[in-house]
Amino acid sequence: MIQIQLYGADWCPDCRRAKSYLDENNIDYQFIDVDLDKEATAKVEAINNGKRIIPTIIINGKSYTNPDNAKLASVLGINEGYRIVVYGADWCPDCRKSKAFFDDNGINYQYIYIEENDWAVPIVTKLNNGKRKIPTIIINDDIVLVEPENEELRQALKIDETKEEKVYDTIIIGGGAAGLTTSIYAQRDRFSTLILEKKTIGGNAFLTEKIENYPGFTSISGPDLMDKMEEQAKTYGADIKTGEDVIDIRKTDDVFVIKTNTKEYYGKSVVLSTGSTYRLLEIPGEQELIGSGVHFCATCDGAFYRDKDIIVIGGGNSALEEGIFLAGFCKSVSIISRDEAFTASETYIEKLASINNINTYMNKTSLEFVANDSGGFKGVKVEDNVTKETKVLEADGAFIFIGLIPNTEKFDGFVELNDKGFITTTGLAETSVPGVFAAGDCREGAIAQVAAATGEGVLASYGIRQYFK
Ligand SMILES: Cc1cc2nc3c(=O)[nH]c(=O)nc-3n(C[C@H](O)[C@H](O)[C@H](O)COP(=O)(O)OP(=O)(O)OC[C@H]3O[C@@H](n4cnc5c(N)ncnc54)[C@H](O)[C@@H]3O)c2cc1C
Repeated sequence: MIQIQLYGADWCPDCRRAKSYLDENNIDYQFIDVDLDKEATAKVEAINNGKRIIPTIIINGKSYTNPDNAKLASVLGINEGYRIVVYGADWCPDCRKSKAFFDDNGINYQYIYIEENDWAVPIVTKLNNGKRKIPTIIINDDIVLVEPENEELRQALKIDETKEEKVYDTIIIGGGAAGLTTSIYAQRDRFSTLILEKKTIGGNAFLTEKIENYPGFTSISGPDLMDKMEEQAKTYGADIKTGEDVIDIRKTDDVFVIKTNTKEYYGKSVVLSTGSTYRLLEIPGEQELIGSGVHFCATCDGAFYRDKDIIVIGGGNSALEEGIFLAGFCKSVSIISRDEAFTASETYIEKLASINNINTYMNKTSLEFVANDSGGFKGVKVEDNVTKETKVLEADGAFIFIGLIPNTEKFDGFVELNDKGFITTTGLAETSVPGVFAAGDCREGAIAQVAAATGEGVLASYGIRQYFK
């Protein structure tokens, strides 16, 4: 239960005002009269640095000194005619998406971080048939929405907007490192920007537990780094909309029309910064072990395996290049390829032959990532394509390098893509369509690192500046 204690006195006008406001909104609270309870007085004084200020209201353990009705509305999720409570967690991307939706639309909501409020866990599990699904959002105590898309929230709250009339100088598609950096630079150049993000702001870096190669931070969590970038973009005035999946772009006269899953937006220029997705093997154990034994980025996570035995899966250029890089500081590298011969360039194949801590396993299909008794990584179960014999190759961790899939399918036919689907650019990140720029991991030739993506965002912003000149 949400706990509210209101410390006040009958003669105090602000206490009466706060009590009336809670009553009008059918919110239960415990009134503690400080004139009748010495302990209560001492508590109020302790909270307010020795001062006896009332009302002092404690909501779920957090105190508010003489909050006005607007503050109470924002803390308790009270809106005109309805109230919203969001049960979620700070680390949950879908919770951030829903919270951002409410923020974007100026809607108050009460956020209950379930890890800090044990009482909330049974409420969430009861509403979800025993499962701990978040966000679980309750509107007016009767509508329950679990992991809703923004469209469901819009329908539940009867928000009817199908068009955003404002024409932005730049619309940035994708709110990762590249998109956020473009907006920071463009806003500082006095260009109005809107970032449209289909999931949650922060992109792939937000999903990374620890980043140790972003200049200026010896080690920083992905969410912390991306929160800072988001904050910086907002400070310079960027508008951000999450839960907006761009499905089509077209040009009419001098304006680009960007259609999302919910409505249309208008921009005089566009930046495509939709990133890319690591190709998965889609075998048992993979999802469970990603990040704790199974990785996709040697530059990012290789250092955790210094002097350890690792497995590399793949047989193309990136598998060999990264395998050779890892062999420089790992005890051993076992490369598993499903083909009879590597498909990488001769340069890598020759180099590989001269490195004695690399073993190769050709013509083997990776069947499963095997966990040890404590659920950690144990090895990869492989099958010989000819003999059909299976065995588990044990190691401390594995890296999968079987390619990146650029998130560009929606732009096919609108801008030029290369044969792998990456957006081709020239000069200042210009695509084949004037006024449309590309930055970050979705661009041909991208290095797939956070620092590189931010640099590409800077380049795109210079392209925008030149375009408007
Ligand atoms: C597990 C993992 C660990 C990593 N570790 C490191 C590391 O330690 N150091 C490092 O430098 N790099 C690391 N990287 C790489 C780094 O995260 C990327 O290079 C960087 O995030 C690229 O930024 P970006 O802005 O180009 O793309 P992304 O971060 O991928 O952002 C693109 C955004 O666009 C959104 N989007 C996609 N399609 C649409 C659409 N149609 N409409 C609206 N929005 C859309 C996506 O939801 C996403 O938020 C790691 C990557 C992964 C996956």
